[in-house]
Amino acid sequence: MILTDPRLHSQFADYGILIPIRTSKITKVLEHLENLESLKGKPWRLNAISETVDRAALERVHAPKYVDRLYGSDLENEVLTAYELIDADGNHNRYAPEMALKPLSQFFDDSVLLHVAGTTQTCRLALEKGWAFFTGGGMHHGHYDRGTGFCLVNDLVIALRTLQAEGRIQQAWIVDVDAHKGDGTASLCAGDDSILTFSIHMAQGWPLDPETTRERGEDNPSQVPSDLDIDQEPGEDSFYLARLAAGLEQLKQMAMAKHGRLPDLVLVVDGADPYEKDELPSTSTMRLTLAQMLERDLLLDRFLTKQALPSAWVNAGGYGDHVWEVYAQFLEKVLPGKLR
Ligand SMILES: [Zn+2]
Repeated sequence: MILTDPRLHSQFADYGILIPIRTSKITKVLEHLENLESLKGKPWRLNAISETVDRAALERVHAPKYVDRLYGSDLENEVLTAYELIDADGNHNRYAPEMALKPLSQFFDDSVLLHVAGTTQTCRLALEKGWAFFTGGGMHHGHYDRGTGFCLVNDLVIALRTLQAEGRIQQAWIVDVDAHKGDGTASLCAGDDSILTFSIHMAQGWPLDPETTRERGEDNPSQVPSDLDIDQEPGEDSFYLARLAAGLEQLKQMAMAKHGRLPDLVLVVDGADPYEKDELPSTSTMRLTLAQMLERDLLLDRFLTKQALPSAWVNAGGYGDHVWEVYAQFLEKVLPGKLR
């Protein structure tokens, strides 16, 4: 089952934010699937997010004072920081408020919380149907008391904590194959074995500011390791698939050693930004071909299916006009077999 919602198509540019996240990442994928004979007449998509997210769900994961700022007059500053729209000297960066059609305050309710709701609903669908894919979500740089890297809050951990609080799951994994390290996720889940985190990512390029944070005498939460991290140095793309496969086996061994069983749910952060045609400059050290991207997703799906693990997949990163191809090819292959 695919969960989508026309409200996700709202452009960053509507708020004056000039980040190259294209609506085609959703719309072209859906168009591609609509034209497939293998899906004709089958109920393969849900077109509206019906889940709602309340403040208590955010407070299970984020600092109460930070949540206060998001629901109060500091919201705009938090958005400017998390989306890197302002530099250290106070100058606007990739931000043109004069072009905005809507206020930044609306961005939180209409976009950020909608993604959190969608990820949570996708987890519920995965538990019910075994497999679900959301055309949004994946805000893995959201930290305990701050947003970074286009992520104001961490929808992944919020969704899993919600299901744990409801008693629907006990153990979960977050498997993050986005090009950037899932640093917010790692930090939020550190010291709690009920969510095991695995991230395979560029060795360089994220986090952006390790030194600055250390200078302030604080521990840098971006440097907190996941339960399993695999760093990809530039030029190591040919090792990627073998390393991912070995990492999944290692995660399985880790879960068996800690809990004596596999998790109740796996959340996959399926970023398309390792793709060689991704247009975000900071992802240029990872250049997986379209064929390698397909094998990445199929390998992951085969592993989870073989263990009979329910999996919820979210979009995460992917920038520019070509990343839709990554999702379209994977969903074309697997979706017909997932409908039940
Ligand atoms: Zn990314």
